[in-house]
Amino acid sequence: MSPFDHKRLFLPGPVEVRREILEAQTAWMIGHRTADFAELFARLQSKLKRAFFTDSRVYVSGSSGSGLWEGAVRCGVREDRRVLHLTGGAFSERWADISRANGLNVDCVQVDWGQAHTADLVANALKEACYDAVCAVHNETSTGVTNPIREIGAVVNKHDDTLFFVDTVSGFLGTELRVDDWGIDIALTSSQKAFALPPGIAFAAVSDRLLERAKTIPNRGYYFDIVTLEKSLLKDNTPSTPPIALMVAADMQMDAILAEGIEARWARHRAMREATHEWADERGFGLYAQEGYRSDTVTTVANTLDIDVNAMGEFMEDEIGFAMDKGYGKIKGATFRLPHMGDVTLEMLREVLDGIDAFMAQAN
Ligand SMILES: *Cc1c(COP(=O)(O)O)cnc(C)c1O
Repeated sequence: MSPFDHKRLFLPGPVEVRREILEAQTAWMIGHRTADFAELFARLQSKLKRAFFTDSRVYVSGSSGSGLWEGAVRCGVREDRRVLHLTGGAFSERWADISRANGLNVDCVQVDWGQAHTADLVANALKEACYDAVCAVHNETSTGVTNPIREIGAVVNKHDDTLFFVDTVSGFLGTELRVDDWGIDIALTSSQKAFALPPGIAFAAVSDRLLERAKTIPNRGYYFDIVTLEKSLLKDNTPSTPPIALMVAADMQMDAILAEGIEARWARHRAMREATHEWADERGFGLYAQEGYRSDTVTTVANTLDIDVNAMGEFMEDEIGFAMDKGYGKIKGATFRLPHMGDVTLEMLREVLDGIDAFMAQAN
């Protein structure tokens, strides 16, 4: 028996969700073709627009974020044109795979894992060929790199016909993102990262430009078709049955986020990053991500001290009560990630770091 009432998640998704938010999901159901639902939709819509810093619109999807990857490229890239993916981590590479799986012509600007994409790299690629869209990952959760989306957006926006697609699954509501100011045509995200909701609902802020592009593309699919989503959104509704319980939870969580202040939330994440870097430095660990581009929401620790990450995970679960990350994909074990995202506080982060210290002390 664990001495803790539950295993707290210190994972880069799904993250720990506050009990109040979990309980919001137990409200009595409402029908989605009712005035009550339209009210919920409209209320949530206006809060989401503030969170994305957009005046356009935010679609709500009953899926995880991956679905919107597919929706973005299917709605935005024409059959005989090309799409450019900025790859260099597990998630950016998977998004490129999804474009290929949808039969699109894909080129990649590949950087080494742990490195960022710079505006110069993108400018050079756009000199070589014409693209319908550039797809970038804001915060590459596998490596702990935050890409300079504002600067990349400025470069992409110089090309009239090229749209800018951004995966901000683990950046949104944890680190700065301004959809309209940064010239982003779709910013897509999931619920279970820095938004600190349960998984199963995803969101996308979409520009008029992308909506107009979509209307020119015949085979957009159905479930993630933004033209269909738009028709419903204009009636404060969704085309198919939405995850109502999760929308109720999202509405409540948005209230808490707006009360904290979005910029204050970004600042809290930055402070947690600083505390994590300091801890890692003092212990003699490295930081995997390129300096200057290290994420505010997840620190990927280079395991230069060669601690036994599996044993650390077991210790943390049994003694401290946290489920821990053990690194992602091909860098598992050589790195582990400290996801200081969502509703994590400096105090909770400190408990985790002290726990790892205790593990290292008893392992020696
Ligand atoms: C988790 C994650 C995804 C995948 O999101 P799902 O909600 O699991 O589909 C995509 N991109 C990034 C950057 C992520 O961190």
